[in-house]
Order: sequence, then structure tokens, then C-alpha cells
Amino acid sequence: MRADVVIVGGGVVGSSIALHLAEGGQCSVIVIERATSYARASSALSASSIRQQFTTPVCMGMSRHGFDFYRDIGERLAVEDERPEIGLVERGYLYLAEAGREAGLEAAVRVQRANAVPVERLEPLALADRFAWLNVEDLGLGAFGLAGEGWFDGYSVMQAFRKKARSLGVVYLHDEATGLAMTASRVTAVETARSGTIVSGVVVDAAGPHAAPVAAWAGFQLPVAPQKRTVFAFRCAEPPKDLPLVVDASGFYVRPEGDGYIAGGPAWLPDADPDDLDADYAQFDEAMWPALAHRIPAFERIRMSRAWAGHYEMSTFDHNALIGWTPGVDNLMIAAGFSGHGMQHAPATGRGVAELITKGRYETLDLSPLSVDRVVRGERIEELNVI
Ligand SMILES: Cc1cc2nc3c(=O)[nH]c(=O)nc-3n(C[C@H](O)[C@H](O)[C@H](O)COP(=O)(O)OP(=O)(O)OC[C@H]3O[C@@H](n4cnc5c(N)ncnc54)[C@H](O)[C@@H]3O)c2cc1C
Repeated sequence: MRADVVIVGGGVVGSSIALHLAEGGQCSVIVIERATSYARASSALSASSIRQQFTTPVCMGMSRHGFDFYRDIGERLAVEDERPEIGLVERGYLYLAEAGREAGLEAAVRVQRANAVPVERLEPLALADRFAWLNVEDLGLGAFGLAGEGWFDGYSVMQAFRKKARSLGVVYLHDEATGLAMTASRVTAVETARSGTIVSGVVVDAAGPHAAPVAAWAGFQLPVAPQKRTVFAFRCAEPPKDLPLVVDASGFYVRPEGDGYIAGGPAWLPDADPDDLDADYAQFDEAMWPALAHRIPAFERIRMSRAWAGHYEMSTFDHNALIGWTPGVDNLMIAAGFSGHGMQHAPATGRGVAELITKGRYETLDLSPLSVDRVVRGERIEELNVI
């Protein structure tokens, strides 16, 4: 078997890259995906929200493109007369900072406005006026996104990319990549568990939380590691009206989902086992619920309906994606380490990686600030708004 481009990993990122390559019509593409159920893939376990409120210009640009893409996805990824539905809700993110600790959020708002992100700066009185359900007693500042933010059904997005890519001739191979065949600094083929060796001109590592082992087959130490995050779903007896996605000063986030809510927060325990997908219920009881009820008193009366855990594909280098050619390897492209942003940045990543492979340069949005080379140069991206 052979293809111009072989992609390891058929989640939202690998499938977006496959789609954009196929749309160019210039190359044959095989996606190797070991789990067609996607039961453990980040793309199926995501909170699938999108924000413009980053402080890194390249991330803001990718989110802007992501929102436009998802708004038009019915048209964009239609297969014959079947249009994907992803339930996109446009409602802002509300970032909150405690009194005396406003400096970071203040700086973020300045950068966002300079980059044309529509964000409103709200003092505590204005916050209380605007969001009657919010406890503002210990708050110093809020920042509310006015457009291009919200949430959607991530699993449907991933399936829409996959379905459209297949309709354009991309082959999805249900198999596991087990190694790379190399000649000097070139990858010549991908080895698989069941389908033998697949000869390829370019290989893309889009293996999500498992991207580091793939890069290691080519001798590159990719600083990406799985980090467990639990999402808790609950219902509330007296639902707060028009809740946006709230990112509290304590680090948790909460947003509406169907007729209830979902909430999540930072990693609860340091990850030891990359295969551990057990929900950390103690995080909800010991940390999140008290913080939720403090910030939004209506959440004192809630009932948890379920919880699940997924893995962030965390860039341990600087919490930002690593996209580009692998240092020291001629033809291994990496698209990994999205650190909680991969759903919203998948459309821009697919377009950018396809440009880099087929045209040799970025033609639309310049993703070079996220290049993998920055690891070798030791140049970290400092993002103020990390969730
Ligand atoms: C709890 C949680 C909440 C999140 N919330 C958000 C959010 O609100 N907004 C946002 O933008 N992002 C969010 N993210 C992040 C986002 O979901 C991920 O960045 C994105 O899904 C990554 O997509 P991916 O395709 O790179 O990885 P995945 O979806 O994990 O896909 C990688 C695929 O590679 C396959 N694979 C791996 N190794 C091999 C191999 N050797 N051979 C064959 N196949 C292989 C796997 O089976 C998998 O299907 C969240 C993630 C989690 C876990």
C-alpha cells in the first residue's frame, strides 16, 4: 500500500488535515486510525467550546477562522444533500478575576482589543447588573466576549470532517501504526499492526495525546503528554438565566449543555497512567462544587447526572500547539499538543498543514509561530489565558 500522505490519527485534527489535502485534489491520503469507535479519543470526550479570548495572535486568528468555519459547516462539509448539524451556540466566555488580582485579565483585554477581538471589560457593579445570578463580592474584573465564542457538538464535527474527507477519496484504514521506516533523515513508510508497511512521501503525526511515541519513532522527543481532565454534567433546580461560559478565578469553567450544565477545571492529580480515563469525582466534591456554589449561588442546589474524563494532549513545553516539520526529519509533519484548544483550532490547522505540505508555505493564516522548531530554539509562547 502507498499514499502521498499518510496521517497517523483520525480524530478532529487528522481528519481536518485529510479533508483539506483532499480538497486540493493533488495527493492521495491514507488516515490510519486504530479505534473507529473513537471512545477514548479527545475529540469524542471534549467540552467542545470556542473562544476568541486568547492573548497569542496566532491563537486568536485560528479561533476566528474556526468560528467562521463552524458557522458555515453545513454548507462547507455537506456530502451531496446531507448537511452536518453541530448545534453551534454563540454565547460569550465570561472571564473573572478576583479583586487585587486583575492585572492579568486587564492585560489580556488590552491585547485582545489590539487584535480586534470584541471583548467587554466589566467592573463588579456592571457584572452584577449584567449577570444577576453572579456573586461579585470578591471580584475585581470581568471580561466578556461579544462575538465568535460559544460551543458545539465536537463528536459531530469530527464525524463531519471524516465523512467529507472520505467522500473526496481519503482512505481510513482501521489499524494501528506501530513504527516508522527511516532512511537517513527521511521517513519512507509507516509500519502497521495488520496492514503491513505503507509507503509514503509525507507522514503526519496527528495522534493526539499519543503523538509523542509516534515522533519518537523518528528520533524526536516531542514534548506532548496526556493529561487527564474530568467533565461533570449536572442539573440545577433554579437554572441561572442565559449563562455564558464562565471561567472563574478559581480555575473552573461551567457552561450550559442541553437542559443542564457541564463544568471542568485544571488537572486534579498529576497524570501517571496515560490509559486512565476514570472520572475524578473527588475533584467535584472537594473543589469544584464549593467554588461553583460560591460564584453562582443557584448552583448550591444541583444534581450531578454523569461525569467523564478525557486526555488533554498537553504541550509540556508551553501549553500551545506544535505544528510543522519535525526538526531533523525531512518529511514528518507534526500537528499535536493543542492543550485544550484542538477542537476550535482544527479547521485552521487542517488548512495550514495542507498548505505547508502541498505549497511549501502558509498562504492564508501564518501558523509559523507554532512551529515545532521553537522547541529546539527554546522559544516559549506566553499565553495569559490558559484553561
Ligand atoms: C475534557 C476535555 C475538554 C476539552 N475541551 C475543549 C474545548 O472546550 N475546546 C477545544 O477547542 N478543545 C478542547 N479540548 C481539546 C480537544 O478535544 C483536543 O485538542 C482535540 O480533540 C485533539 O484532537 P486530535 O485529533 O489531535 O486527538 P484525538 O481526538 O485524541 O485523536 C487522535 C487519534 O489518534 C489515534 N491514534 C493514536 N495513536 C495511534 C496509532 N499509533 N495508530 C493509529 N491511531 C492512533 C487515536 O485512536 C485517536 O482517535 C478538550 C479535551 C478534553 C479531553
